[in-house]
Amino acid sequence: DRDARETLPFLADQTIWRRCLYAIELRRPDMVETSYMIGDRTTWLQIALAPLGDGLVMTMTDVTDLMVANQTLQCRAATLALEIGRERATRRALSHEIGQREEREQELRRLAETDPLTALLNRRSFIEKANAAIADCDAAGEDTALIIVDLDHFKSVNDSYGHGAGDAVIRAFADLLLGIARPDRDLVGRFGGEEFAVFMPRAGTAAVLRMARRIQDELTRRKLPVSETLALQVSASLGVATRRDAESFTAFIERADRALYRAKNEGRNRICLAEADSIVVAA
Ligand code: GH3
Ligand code: MG
Ligand code: MG
Repeated sequence: DRDARETLPFLADQTIWRRCLYAIELRRPDMVETSYMIGDRTTWLQIALAPLGDGLVMTMTDVTDLMVANQTLQCRAATLALEIGRERATRRALSHEIGQREEREQELRRLAETDPLTALLNRRSFIEKANAAIADCDAAGEDTALIIVDLDHFKSVNDSYGHGAGDAVIRAFADLLLGIARPDRDLVGRFGGEEFAVFMPRAGTAAVLRMARRIQDELTRRKLPVSETLALQVSASLGVATRRDAESFTAFIERADRALYRAKNEGRNRICLAEADSIVVAA
């Protein structure tokens, strides 16, 4: 004959109380969960409501341990998610760092391989790459050819117009060579000073002479730009060689070099073919 809410304080919760009344009125079982404090400890209850006669059977289960275990698990899941997030961020930073390092290494390699004034291959990397190309051509039974070009009377360019003008001429001539060389096939290098080399894989005497003539033609056809107001007409001497069977690259270069010196001695502004008695193209 007493109000249940006096003995079971959690029934004072309006939501729970209403659900108990509904269970009785609608004659429908229900399940509710609630918590209340005893001292500083929270107790969790799971309450099963089963209508019986004009009343209700209430079964209460203490699920506090279960709830605490569940909360601990949720807490651990949150910590794990945080750690995974941190690890992902670290991995992203690491791969960014690796990417940057690879870029720096690539840049260092490029700097080590190229001549700073013209961005052409320097002598060392030109020889290295030419040797690799020769190995490929040897395996395929293909000819290779070499041109060594030296600008004529270049000292007088420096003497008359200054070292800066000389540098501009060297750069413009490098661009001229790059413009004529077959892309992705020929190697163009600066051997030092105003001396350049073009290595042609899969090329015989006819092809290399055609290339040498084009270099000379271009130099005859146009002046090399030095500044907005100055362009200079320069000429070059060219030594040309095709590689002999099993010849070392050093010997190959020496023959092209000797041909170049012959071109110089015989008056400059001409092409000499190694081991040929005559000048191929004289000015
Ligand atoms: P030759 O026709 O016999 O080749 O005569 P040359 O004057 O071209 O040759 P020489 O070897 O007597 O002189 C080459 C000059 O090139 C001397 C040097 O000061 C200059 N030189 C070398 N490297 C550079 C460079 O990077 N920039 C400039 N501006 N001049 C250079
Ligand atoms: Mg010279
Ligand atoms: Mg020289």
